Amino acid sequence: MQKMSQYLFALFRLFYPRNCAQCGWDLYQHEEGICMRCLHALPHTLMMLNHLQMKKIFFGRCSWEEQWVFLKMEKSGPVRDALHSLKYRHQPQVGAALGKWWAQKIEWQYGRPNWDVMITVPLTPEKKRKRGYNQCDCIARPMSEHWNIPLVQDVLMKRKGSKSQTLKSRILRNATEQNPFEVVDPKRWEGKHILLLDDVVTTGATLEQCYKALVQIKNVQLSVAALAIPVHNRLVI
Ligand SMILES: [Zn+2]
Repeated sequence: MQKMSQYLFALFRLFYPRNCAQCGWDLYQHEEGICMRCLHALPHTLMMLNHLQMKKIFFGRCSWEEQWVFLKMEKSGPVRDALHSLKYRHQPQVGAALGKWWAQKIEWQYGRPNWDVMITVPLTPEKKRKRGYNQCDCIARPMSEHWNIPLVQDVLMKRKGSKSQTLKSRILRNATEQNPFEVVDPKRWEGKHILLLDDVVTTGATLEQCYKALVQIKNVQLSVAALAIPVHNRLVI
């Protein structure tokens, strides 16, 4: 009977092949999005928790409880390819594979985190409609399931029509713009430890805006997690 189901599965895969988004090889039944071989080959940071580069980015700007970062993103290479598949080639399963892998790594090295709730950097409704999903949710969902920590989507809201902030200087932004993010129901999250997740941290501008909105919640603890950080030299370990 078991053999029969294996044959049926093989036949099904013949017509509906599943391939690794990185190397193109067939995926085993237990694999999703990216094969184990490619996952193992991803360059990850030596210190996932309170990484020096993350500390540098947010120094004097945000007081995070914990700062997590998982992968090192070089100018070209597997991490950049994976994120490109996730964001622009409509492959949400790549995000799921990375989130699952990250959760296992955190568990092995640090044990279960003590976050009460997980949230992600929201997209504007227009952008979410265009992409079909928020790529950060794809990464966060398997992590939330792994530890049974709720992933909540309506904590932060991005005001309609707010533009991307990354190209403007920090000073100009602070002087001319109001924060595009706001907390929908701050009372509900009082005294909670919130983990805010993003796909890539570069200047930290967006995460800082989220922080400024979230820190208004009474007695809140805030931690941040970015799947990848760009590296431009070998000093980043
Ligand atoms: Zn592969």
